[in-house]
Amino acid sequence: MGVSTHTASISSMSAAQISADALVIGGGVAGLFILDALVESGVGALLVDAHPLGTGQTTNSQGILHAGVKYALAGSAGDDAVEASEAAALWSEMLRGGAGNDLRGVRVLTDHCWLWRSASWAGVAGMLGARLALRTAPVAVADHERPEWLRGVKGDVLKLGETVIDPRSMLQVLAVRHAARIVRGDVQSIERLANGASIAISGTQEYRVSASSVILAAGAGNERFSELAGASEPMQRRPLRQLMIRGSLPMVFGHCIDGARTRVTITSDRMPDDSVVWHVGGQIAEDGVRMEASDFLRYGLAEVASALPGVPLGGCEVGEYAVDRAEPRTSDGRRPPRAFAKWNGPCCTVWPIKLVLAPLLAKAVCAHVRGRSSSRAPTNGWGGLRDGVKMAERPWESQWNSQRVETR
Ligand SMILES: Cc1cc2nc3c(=O)[nH]c(=O)nc-3n(C[C@H](O)[C@H](O)[C@H](O)COP(=O)(O)OP(=O)(O)OC[C@H]3O[C@@H](n4cnc5c(N)ncnc54)[C@H](O)[C@@H]3O)c2cc1C
Repeated sequence: MGVSTHTASISSMSAAQISADALVIGGGVAGLFILDALVESGVGALLVDAHPLGTGQTTNSQGILHAGVKYALAGSAGDDAVEASEAAALWSEMLRGGAGNDLRGVRVLTDHCWLWRSASWAGVAGMLGARLALRTAPVAVADHERPEWLRGVKGDVLKLGETVIDPRSMLQVLAVRHAARIVRGDVQSIERLANGASIAISGTQEYRVSASSVILAAGAGNERFSELAGASEPMQRRPLRQLMIRGSLPMVFGHCIDGARTRVTITSDRMPDDSVVWHVGGQIAEDGVRMEASDFLRYGLAEVASALPGVPLGGCEVGEYAVDRAEPRTSDGRRPPRAFAKWNGPCCTVWPIKLVLAPLLAKAVCAHVRGRSSSRAPTNGWGGLRDGVKMAERPWESQWNSQRVETR
């Protein structure tokens, strides 16, 4: 299976005519994993993105390869928790270079997270109750085994084999691997044909792509593309307001829980000047969408200070940013239970729901595409990322300016 091309004029435009088995629209974690799975199984697949790769959710993500515990805090592991647990195990293999997808180039920030409670005993009991159904069980640790930054915490502390990656480095590994198959461009139209679809793309170079399958993997952009493709999959946005704290801080990875609620989830990265930035989500990020930015900063800092009483935050800088999760619409507006892939003729709309689920989603989509594709001889012509792979910024590289506040 492959890709074929020749150049021709379409009405007033001069566009490269491309023929491919599959076109993926969007190069976040979903699109790039799908591209990789397709190419590795011999499908002539291409990808188009209108922005730097990962713009939207993936480069704003905390990069936690959730092992299911987050969904099992109430004490039992449902299908979503078990699926996340399976997915996290697959990631572990890939990060070691196995499972047919060598991700050894991805920056792993930690191979474990911590869980501690701030209120009722029920939270910890719940997590322990769920452990039998999950591959990665949380383990209670003795006081002397706690990291320094958890010494001020009263009550139990659990260690969890939950890996955290730099999501941008993951996109980079996949994008560099397939750079010749990716172009920057804006999809103008998706027209269904008897045996696939014709997609018009504008940009520095214009293209008209004829593909047997079109995968809509553009996150929030899917709302428009699903409409263009005549599929009209209903989408919901669930907003978040994330907190960032930067200073002379320890590298912290973990969740402070309160009953079945994740009060704060903190992940960290080291800056070029050796300072550490904390990226904070969890319940504060849900609550923060209803607040003014300055109120949110005060509230978020108070929550973090109370979750980690032993870590002085004085002199740190704080920042915040808002971002939407893009998902299929649910009847109650809550998180959909599983990764989403729905075919409508030649077009498949996908939302992974969680970064950790993207490889499983990619496998499922790939199996379907292989069933649909007619073998097309590979030729050159798709521009590829001639100027190199351009990735979206992480939030702390661009989101401090208007919200610099000194803590006490
Ligand atoms: C703050 C936050 C923290 C999170 N933390 C975690 C976590 O720790 N662990 C976890 O498992 N999940 C996490 N998630 C969820 C996870 O990040 C998302 O489920 C996942 O990144 C979605 O990936 P995606 O590829 O579908 O979409 P996106 O990452 O939004 O990518 C969409 C892509 O489509 C492109 N695009 C958009 N519009 C167009 C257009 N018009 N034409 C062409 N291309 C277009 C964009 O440029 C982008 O490359 C988090 C999400 C958020 C918001």
